[in-house]
Amino acid sequence: MMRGTSLARRQTTRVSCPVSRVSYLAILAAVLAAAALGAACGGGGGTEVSNKVKVTATLGLFRDLVQQVGGDRVQVSALVPDGSDPHTYEPPPSQIAKLSQAKLVVVNGLNLEAGLEKVVRENASSSATVLELAAGLPTLEDNPHLWLDVQIAMTYVERIRDALVSVDSAGTDVYRANAEPYLSQLQQLDLEVATAVQSIPAERRKLVTFHDAYPYLARRYGLEIVGFVVESGGKEPSAQEVSDLANAIRNEKVPAVFKEPQFSARILDLAASDAGVQVCSLYSDALDNKVKTYVELMRFNAQELARCLGGTSG
Ligand SMILES: [Zn+2]
Repeated sequence: MMRGTSLARRQTTRVSCPVSRVSYLAILAAVLAAAALGAACGGGGGTEVSNKVKVTATLGLFRDLVQQVGGDRVQVSALVPDGSDPHTYEPPPSQIAKLSQAKLVVVNGLNLEAGLEKVVRENASSSATVLELAAGLPTLEDNPHLWLDVQIAMTYVERIRDALVSVDSAGTDVYRANAEPYLSQLQQLDLEVATAVQSIPAERRKLVTFHDAYPYLARRYGLEIVGFVVESGGKEPSAQEVSDLANAIRNEKVPAVFKEPQFSARILDLAASDAGVQVCSLYSDALDNKVKTYVELMRFNAQELARCLGGTSG
């Protein structure tokens, strides 16, 4: 009885979730009501958290996709912090400890997370399911950035839904109910990106980026890749490569070049200034404070492409 009373009293301290005074006769009901109210108000007590299905994703992007499908049933973290480059990132021990507790580990594969593969292999629990999102999908020269085609991101979401069902079958209905409207939202997003790119005059749909992350985006939405500074993060370009890029920008009459927030792009800045074009931004592998979800990332990219390449024709 004392436990019940103190629980009810503790709830009354919540400003946004008031509990009316209860009589001793209604104490059991009060305990149940307080517990239900705590849950409804997102109390997030210690016991509630431990019941969640623990998931570790490599990228914040995949953490977001897992969260969209898993909702309140999952507790998901990312090995690569927002704003970092997954091609070269190596996680600290605290992140590795979380990885070892995960029931589901979500990776992209195709060597995207080169520095993480060994970490995942050696530290994931032997009973954990490792979902490789890109496994078996048709690729362009084994480039790993498939999610920048929204249709392929939808396949990722379906794979995450199915993996969550397989590690937590009691949540099947929840995962399906969450995935369905999210997939509809992505279908809409796909159309939005296509419409934005179509607003750009055909001869200006040209991409120069920092790293080679956009072949799937280019194929899906009809852009031409003119060049990039490095094949992947962590590699330094030579002066000759920068000069070749500046020439390509000039020769192809590229209206703008795109840097990516997770990379310092001094060399791209130099090539762009050499060629006399503006420098814009595109997101690829990493979320940050400005772009917190996959949908926000693609929407930003679509608007930035239209803004920087669109301009006035000619
Ligand atoms: Zn990348």
